[in-house]
Amino acid sequence: MPDNKGIAKNAGDIYRHIYHNRASSRSKIAADLGISLPTVSHSLELLQEMGLIYNAGEFESTGGRRANMISFVPGARYAIGIDITKSYLVFVLADLDLNLLDNEKLLIPYENADRYYSMISDQIEQMLERNHIAEDRFLGVGISLPVIVDISQNLVTYAEVINLPGNFYEELKRWIRHPFLLFNDANSAGWAELWKREDDNPIVYLSISNSVGGAIVLNKRVYTGSNFRSGEFGHMTIIPHGKRCYCGRYGCLDAYCSALVLSSFTHGDIKEFFSQLKLGENAGYRQIFQQYLHYLAIGINNLRMCFDCDIVLGGNVGALMEDYIMELREITRRLTPFENSADYIKMCSFRTEPSAAGAALYFIDEFVRHF
Ligand SMILES: [Zn+2]
Repeated sequence: MPDNKGIAKNAGDIYRHIYHNRASSRSKIAADLGISLPTVSHSLELLQEMGLIYNAGEFESTGGRRANMISFVPGARYAIGIDITKSYLVFVLADLDLNLLDNEKLLIPYENADRYYSMISDQIEQMLERNHIAEDRFLGVGISLPVIVDISQNLVTYAEVINLPGNFYEELKRWIRHPFLLFNDANSAGWAELWKREDDNPIVYLSISNSVGGAIVLNKRVYTGSNFRSGEFGHMTIIPHGKRCYCGRYGCLDAYCSALVLSSFTHGDIKEFFSQLKLGENAGYRQIFQQYLHYLAIGINNLRMCFDCDIVLGGNVGALMEDYIMELREITRRLTPFENSADYIKMCSFRTEPSAAGAALYFIDEFVRHF
């Protein structure tokens, strides 16, 4: 008979096994993890008592007795993700399977004021209340921002897109009573994208929203670099002495390919730009877009030369590129010295608030890894 210590020690490994395989059976767990069947049974009882797993039916018979299918309970824990931008903010509630159960967008511009921070606090509490999330099932709040965040996830080290104060985390701490951390928006989105993908191949996630950034995903993790500034693709120079970028330099990819380059023609509404483009009534939009694709192709080709992996188009623009991906591939292909196609340019899979979801995912991932 295994002792309690043995059960607790194995419970975490068994839970992770079920979580990563989505469903498993008693004998498969025992075989895969090298744990005896009685220990597996005891650990499963413990996990079931904790509400983390459930009996999800039976596997198809392979001749003998049908095995019980054990799966994890997505609603055992929850996290909130918030994407704060200059002009609006988004709140999402995610379960352990990164299903977004609630999603709220507020067109409130950022301001460094108590009323803004208290509004965030109220929104969090309201979201928890209306979804009946018990305190002991709530993991925390991940906040995505268009800024560079240091390793401790609570210090903003570069904020040009949005004017955050140096003590932003402390300001928020006065209002948010739950654990919370800050994340770079593009890195968060890249993380959510990785979650959706079925293979483990490395990807470069190019996030194209009101600013351009990205994430390098290697070995199922986001590569952060030495200073947490990896994936700042928006500031690659694509045209020497070109257009001025918000960073103060000239010719950055951001100056040519941010969503604002297109949405400035449709009152800041990027979806409207793509609707107009599709309608095809205004030749001007077509011309602007053609030029846009040309610059985007230069950026993508540079990324392909550096990383030799799939380049996934994300962010607000990436999510709208479906109809133009073939055209973009063709333009990019012509820039590539040794490839006959640019099929490596892919659409993103996670298209609903990836930055907010990716920030929430941090807490989900921590829970599963350290349980
Ligand atoms: Zn720049």
